[in-house]
Amino acid sequence: MSKLSIVLPSYNEEQNIANTAKVLAELLEKNLIEYELVFISDGSSDGTFDEIQKAAAVNPNIKGAEFSRNFGKEAGIFAGLEMTTGDAVIVMDCDLQHPPQVIPEMWSKWQSGVEVVEGIKKNRGKESLGYKLSAGLFYKIMSGLIKMDMSASSDFKLLDRKVVDVLLALPERNTFFRALSFWAGFRTEPVYYEVQERQFGKSKWSFWSLMKYAISNATSFSTLPLQLVTVMGIVSILFSVVLAIQTLVKYISGTAVEGFTTVILLILIIGGFLMLSLGIIGHYIARIYEEVKGRPKYIISKVTGNVQGEVIGSWRKRQ
Ligand code: UDP
Ligand code: MG
Repeated sequence: MSKLSIVLPSYNEEQNIANTAKVLAELLEKNLIEYELVFISDGSSDGTFDEIQKAAAVNPNIKGAEFSRNFGKEAGIFAGLEMTTGDAVIVMDCDLQHPPQVIPEMWSKWQSGVEVVEGIKKNRGKESLGYKLSAGLFYKIMSGLIKMDMSASSDFKLLDRKVVDVLLALPERNTFFRALSFWAGFRTEPVYYEVQERQFGKSKWSFWSLMKYAISNATSFSTLPLQLVTVMGIVSILFSVVLAIQTLVKYISGTAVEGFTTVILLILIIGGFLMLSLGIIGHYIARIYEEVKGRPKYIISKVTGNVQGEVIGSWRKRQ
């Protein structure tokens, strides 16, 4: 019989773990789906890992790990994927904003041969105006950069084992899970869902963390910002040709003393362009630097439940 693994990245979610584990276990047992739940506590400072341990103690289908510090949701997802043993894997938030009711639908699509089932949002749930605007801007930029419509996509998706193995084999450290499943290809079908209200606790994203996430994802998926530097260069050159001609004409006609305003403006504009360009290039160099160092995406400090393999800093699967 095939097994379904569910990966649930959790950061300071002590109030959600027990409830989510119960809801999922009941649903899957009712639908006669063999399953495992993999909770990854992302360096939580509350009792999240204790709750995972408690859940794992009563249900042998539950396992989990704790990070040594907060490594971010991406790292949580990848650690979870690494620990799964199922034939298909679903990634979902542990606050039940991704409705478990669509899991049977995803599962039956997978059984009929679909390799990637994308969870597509029908609405955006209840969000503040600031969040809506920044998330909207983020998805606009992202969709443009990676040339795929990302606005309704989410981290809620089902992946076949093949796809999981492809993603786990990627050597890169700065991953963007949401877009990587598009990038990987395979036979993909959508499943539509309504974003639910968060069960307990509050959202972990602030405006700035979202901005940071947006920039790092945009640059990890596209080199377009670098080409922007070239465009700025071309614009400046065209501009300078026009000004050069004007300056020469003035010089020849003997009226070349004035023009301090032009000089000041030029210094400001070119200085601005140069620094912006250096910033963009610097950002990419920073990313290269991070990749080259080759540090692990995450460090696991504790595990619970039936986890095979050995925990030495980061988790490695033992064949
Ligand atoms: N999360 C995580 N690490 C983080 C931030 C969030 O693992 O650094 C998890 C969080 O526990 C939740 C999911 O990612 O399961 C989505 O986070 P949240 O609900 O705060 O975001 P929102 O739903 O508001 O976009
Ligand atoms: Mg949420």
